[in-house]
Amino acid sequence: MLSFTEDLEAARRVHGGRHYCHGLVLGVRLARVGCRLLGLEDPAHYRDLMVYAETDRCAADAVSGVTGATLGRRRLKWVDYGKFAATFLDLATGRAVRVWARSDVPHGRPEQDAVEMWAGFTDDELFGWDWVEVEVPVCDLPGRPRCRVRCEACGEEVRDGRHRRVEGRNLCRACAGGAYYSVKRLQRDGASAA
Ligand SMILES: [Zn+2]
Ligand SMILES: [Zn+2]
Repeated sequence: MLSFTEDLEAARRVHGGRHYCHGLVLGVRLARVGCRLLGLEDPAHYRDLMVYAETDRCAADAVSGVTGATLGRRRLKWVDYGKFAATFLDLATGRAVRVWARSDVPHGRPEQDAVEMWAGFTDDELFGWDWVEVEVPVCDLPGRPRCRVRCEACGEEVRDGRHRRVEGRNLCRACAGGAYYSVKRLQRDGASAA
């Protein structure tokens, strides 16, 4: 395993900024616990590791930096739970461990040095963990897209089974309802109305 300092630096490169924030330091600690429990010596070069980050804050970048798992390679999954937790899954063995931050741990203040502050806590004081089972749908696995479907409303291609079947039609999630955006009406000839 890399040293804590090396992992922290890898996480900082993903996260940006020059300083180590509390979330990043704690996220690195959490990721190291997960990898240690799975017995991964060199997680960044282990192809069968899949990570589920339950936050889209600092800790997500921390686990990505430590494990080398990224969204684009489909080894990092974002689960929108708003929790300081992540699950580390070894696809080769099916073993998975979910690690979470204990809620009774004090919050770090910006003026405190994050590395120094959290060095005063053991992993057991900071985190809990459970061995868990994770069923990974085939469409979530790395590798070539398993299926491609054309949305029958907008015509855009939808990969990996993310379409919806609505009243006999294949629709993308946006057309099926609940798009996170709404198209502006005044667009003409590709000119933006913004
Ligand atoms: Zn941060
Ligand atoms: Zn569509």
